[in-house]
Amino acid sequence: MPEPTTDTTPDTQSATPTGPPATANVHIADLFRRDGVTASFEFFPPKSAEAADSLYAAIADLEELKPSFVSVTYGAGGSTRELTTDLVLRIQRETPLHPVPHLTGVCHTPAEVDAMLEGYATAGVRNIMALGGDPPHEQGAPMGRRAGEQAFAHFRYGADVVRAIRAFSDTHLVESRRFGIGVGGYPEGHAATPNRLTEMDHLKAKVDAGADFIITQLFFDNHDYYDFRERCELAGIRVPIIAGIMPITSTKGMARMADLAAGSRFPAPLLRALRRAGDEPDLVRRVGLHWATEQCRDLLDHKVAGLHLYTLNKSKATREIYRTLGVKDSRALS
Ligand SMILES: Cc1cc2nc3c(=O)[nH]c(=O)nc-3n(C[C@H](O)[C@H](O)[C@H](O)COP(=O)(O)OP(=O)(O)OC[C@H]3O[C@@H](n4cnc5c(N)ncnc54)[C@H](O)[C@@H]3O)c2cc1C
Repeated sequence: MPEPTTDTTPDTQSATPTGPPATANVHIADLFRRDGVTASFEFFPPKSAEAADSLYAAIADLEELKPSFVSVTYGAGGSTRELTTDLVLRIQRETPLHPVPHLTGVCHTPAEVDAMLEGYATAGVRNIMALGGDPPHEQGAPMGRRAGEQAFAHFRYGADVVRAIRAFSDTHLVESRRFGIGVGGYPEGHAATPNRLTEMDHLKAKVDAGADFIITQLFFDNHDYYDFRERCELAGIRVPIIAGIMPITSTKGMARMADLAAGSRFPAPLLRALRRAGDEPDLVRRVGLHWATEQCRDLLDHKVAGLHLYTLNKSKATREIYRTLGVKDSRALS
């Protein structure tokens, strides 16, 4: 999920990817081999001490579920750069989890991206989500044309970030420590490309540039995922496609989701069930969790490559989904 922002100030990072880290992370290809179906949880970097405490408590709770990896979002343009790297490195240092940082190219120079990659390589991080990112807003308003052009001067699309990570890996890292690369996929399409044929060409080009896996935008109708998976197959895209699932836990949260994951469709049966729940927060939550759990069950029955749960930095909904699926932890998903 994007984090709109205005801060594009770069900082410097001096770490070099030389000595081996204390605990080396595992390449995504090995995680797919080990886990069969991967499970991953997404967090965003907390912006206050209180939010950080709550997130670390949630992470501790979620450790029990033994996810294959956890991912940490990045504020496009670099606004949460330090917060993202701090959270990623802390997870890497203090937990048994494998953190996967998101990295968006917009507003960055190749040198800034290389500096971040150096820092991650030094810490033993092995996998990165490569994203184009949306241009940040200036004081709530979209950027002017000139500022918009500058924002995309070096990295325009996710594929450009994939190429940069690939090039960094090839020149700076030994084979056994190369980055695994994830990219975003849009089962219901991405607003920037109304042409649903050329969009698959762009996705294929992004994967051909060196992506190892795809994580999808959230969706509420599994048919969209299944059809997307088939269209990928027809386009010759052979990497695993992890399904992005976000349970609705409140009416307010749903409105925010509709905004952030622009284009995601809310199916009529889901809207009808939510309408029946009225303005009872507990009933809305039950409807949302039931829907997401059924999505997960059906995806597992249809050989999904992995489940990626957008946690909103909380543990309760994810744990309830696992319990209702009847699994103790992620190893039981396969
Ligand atoms: C799993 C996931 C995680 C995300 N995490 C973050 C995050 O942490 N921070 C954040 O800011 N945003 C995040 N986003 C949002 C993402 O940055 C935006 O949706 C962005 O607009 C698209 O980036 P992309 O790399 O996914 O897509 P791209 O591959 O860049 O594609 C975007 C659009 O451009 C089109 N396109 C691609 N290549 C070309 C080309 N050569 N010529 C013409 N058109 C082209 C595509 O068809 C598509 O319509 C995430 C999205 C997903 C699905």
